[in-house]
Amino acid sequence: MTCSFRHPAAILLDCLGTLVALDPPAPLLVMALRERLRIAVTESQAERAIAAEIAYYRAHLDDGRDAQTLAELHRKCAEALRSALPPSAELSGADGVKLEHALLASLRFTPYPDAVPALERARERGQTLVVVSNWDVSLHDVLQRLGLRPLLDGVLTSAEAGVRKPSARIFERALAMAGVGAGEAIHIGDSVEEDVAGARAAGIEPVLISRDGKPGPQGTRVVASLLEL
Ligand SMILES: [Mg+2]
Repeated sequence: MTCSFRHPAAILLDCLGTLVALDPPAPLLVMALRERLRIAVTESQAERAIAAEIAYYRAHLDDGRDAQTLAELHRKCAEALRSALPPSAELSGADGVKLEHALLASLRFTPYPDAVPALERARERGQTLVVVSNWDVSLHDVLQRLGLRPLLDGVLTSAEAGVRKPSARIFERALAMAGVGAGEAIHIGDSVEEDVAGARAAGIEPVLISRDGKPGPQGTRVVASLLEL
């Protein structure tokens, strides 16, 4: 029993905050706006605007489920960014496509240093690895660019599943993708609300990754690194 708990047949993994981090976007946005659109903003103005854009994105990310709907989502996110930046003649006259490119250039992800070695180790143990993420369909390309996709057996986004974490339904879809039952998998993620609660609702043992050492809820397994899996 202990053995199967330690090395389950499948590991489901959250993406942001678990496998990858978002690089600080504000300095990148300041640079992109200046270089691409000749718009000058301070870092704190950029920070507020990107926070508004991220809030808009989080509420609408499930709309981006194929190339066409993703393009529309990006367009709307760029407009959310525009309305959160300090008004100026340059900004109101700025081309939407250029603004969208500036936004996308500011959103860069980096795998945590433990991500690749942990995925490689799990593969060596023969474990099936499936990412389950509240993300639009572009997550496939993101993971490919970061070199993580070849280490994974499957990637399930909420946009494609039509349902997001913490719903048990997205976890059930991920289990089917991994070809295992709930008792043969664990799910690791950094959100108590989305990952721990959602996995539990689907009958999957949750593991909370707490990179800053914050304690998790009572009765929940907590790790500080993916290498502890
Ligand atoms: Mg997360």
